[in-house]
Amino acid sequence: MNIAETEKELSVYQSMAARFDVAASKLQLEEGLKQYLRLPNREIIVHIPVAMDNKQLRVFDGYRVQHSIARGPCKGGVRYSPDVTLDEIRGLAAEMTWKCAVVNIPFGGAKGGIVCDPAQLSIGELERITRRYTAEILDYIGPERDVPAPDMNTNEQTMAWIMDTYSMHVRHTVTASVTGKPLDLGGSQGRREATGRGCMIAVDEALKRFSWKRQSTRVIVQGFGNVGSEAARLLHDEGYKITGVADIAGGVFNSNGLDIPALLEYAKQNKTVKGFAGGESIGTQEILEQDCEVLLPAATESVITSKNAHKIKARILAEGANSPTTPPADDILFERGVFVIPDILANAGGVTVSYFEWVQDRQGYFWQEDVVNERLKTIMVAAFDEVVRYGEKHKVNNRIAAYMLAIDRVAFNIKLRGIYA
Ligand code: NAD
Repeated sequence: MNIAETEKELSVYQSMAARFDVAASKLQLEEGLKQYLRLPNREIIVHIPVAMDNKQLRVFDGYRVQHSIARGPCKGGVRYSPDVTLDEIRGLAAEMTWKCAVVNIPFGGAKGGIVCDPAQLSIGELERITRRYTAEILDYIGPERDVPAPDMNTNEQTMAWIMDTYSMHVRHTVTASVTGKPLDLGGSQGRREATGRGCMIAVDEALKRFSWKRQSTRVIVQGFGNVGSEAARLLHDEGYKITGVADIAGGVFNSNGLDIPALLEYAKQNKTVKGFAGGESIGTQEILEQDCEVLLPAATESVITSKNAHKIKARILAEGANSPTTPPADDILFERGVFVIPDILANAGGVTVSYFEWVQDRQGYFWQEDVVNERLKTIMVAAFDEVVRYGEKHKVNNRIAAYMLAIDRVAFNIKLRGIYA
């Protein structure tokens, strides 16, 4: 593979577009609609001046890409990382449109990011970056326009700053302007664990198809942040055997099953799972290739590529992260009979409970945690069933089935709204 081909394989937007093209042509989507939905509605680039603690001014690049408002306001996370690119944000924004459509919630897709390294920034610097970014994109966000949420390296605190900055500008408190907020500021019960819980529900549904028992199902999780740690905790509580866990610094493996409560405590103290005494140490990428029934990548994109897909031993791939698998790897996994629960289905629990949070904020009436979890389960089980049945009916893999289902729903709304008038 030459450099250009490798770059194309690793481009999040190109991966999205490749899957979109396959699904759109299977749906025989009109050429105009195809062009329209392949690209985002709007791409915002901001250069944010921020006073650092040492009184020097630094400029950070930030993005917000809004892919579609056909089914409702845009919805999507904001990530902070030195690796953030416009290509990645553009691809993830479109994925959010498809994800919201797969679980049939009334949102379009967006994504945002700031090129920065949070590990090198003080809390004050992070707050100033967040507030200035929010001020720069203020005209384009809001409960009826575009509702940000946490993603890689952002959290409840980041959302509180965005909500406060937005509210200061419009002169009243608007809790529904972001989701993933602290509970005391209009957050929802169950939001923190929602993405991991959604992954667990999807894995449970897949297990039923295989008639496997949880107790004899070995799971490996890559990424131990919000998604990975919650998924590991919930799967462990349900009786699954978690044999491997890794984060950016390294991993830990134990074929008899890891003590997840102890590992969670260790990770809390040490900010990594590396060095945990309850297993052997293992590399972050190496862990993907270990023997297991379920592999749950929950770290970052493009970790399963044409280079390592043939080494994956799992029978079920549940994509907690966004875009962890490239299209050439999809083909290899499909040929090898791996049952893939695609990201736009497997990790849709987060945006589903974000939707619940937005609803609760607008109503000013908050639900009990068991109500949130029950409603999340209903939506995830229905979406899982629809995607798998769609795939069987149209003889396509689960990923293309999810894209087809989503594109069909979005295109239907566009036609209903009368875009051709
Ligand atoms: P996070 O920042 O809380 O955690 C990320 C984890 O991945 C950390 O353990 C980190 O060490 C690890 N990691 C980062 N880069 C890595 C690399 N190159 N190799 C191995 N490990 C690496 O982020 P998160 O919110 O848990 O998000 C993880 C993934 O899930 C992202 O792809 C995100 O877009 C996706 N996602 C998150 C949510 C959500 O609700 N937070 C919802 C849907 C999808």
